[in-house]
Amino acid sequence: MENAPRICIVEDEPDIGELIRLHLQRAGFQPRLFANAESFRVHLRRHEADLVVLDLMLPDADGMEVCRALKQEPKTATVPIIIVTARGEETDRVLGLELGADDYVTKPFSPRELVARVKAVLRRRAAPEAPVSVVAGDIRIDAQQHRVTVAGKGVDLTATEFRLLALLASKPGWVFSREQLLDHLWSGEKAVVDRTVDVHIKNLRDKLGPSGRLIRNVRGVGYKLEP
Ligand code: CA
Repeated sequence: MENAPRICIVEDEPDIGELIRLHLQRAGFQPRLFANAESFRVHLRRHEADLVVLDLMLPDADGMEVCRALKQEPKTATVPIIIVTARGEETDRVLGLELGADDYVTKPFSPRELVARVKAVLRRRAAPEAPVSVVAGDIRIDAQQHRVTVAGKGVDLTATEFRLLALLASKPGWVFSREQLLDHLWSGEKAVVDRTVDVHIKNLRDKLGPSGRLIRNVRGVGYKLEP
């Protein structure tokens, strides 16, 4: 169990938090439960996390702010985040993904669903990417170092954005349907909506600057990367 992924659960509702913790433990992970943002922050000063399950409605902070802070801190910027939202509104999910969260679940959810998503997110990160180095226009993708540069300048991408770009770049000029992209990125988890792809594509394009134009929307079909 020493090497099991360390998962931080930030959830103020004790019953839900404990239920998540129990299921993650049974699934072979090392979960730790935090009832508020502050105790989680203190923990992170001395410990590392491999994934964060983050409730959006916390007693002492807005989960969105916690998410933003994690992504801004170099030490935690690449730690995947799964958002738990009770609000269930698309704006929350979209905002969460824009802030760099990798996935979300809406309350009420089954612990099994959450465990499946945790596994999927960790698997995505561990999965081998496209060839070591791919070039499209000014964009250079180094899959081994998980690094993207545009005209020589580094670009910070989330794990999901990176995989999306690596997939598009694996077949330049090839049009991937939203379904294919969803399938690749979320392993066919049906709860993820089409709009999710569009949000990640938009973020990716913004981060790539002028080179973002190389990612084309093919109306009614999906997306492609211009060779
Ligand atoms: Ca809450």
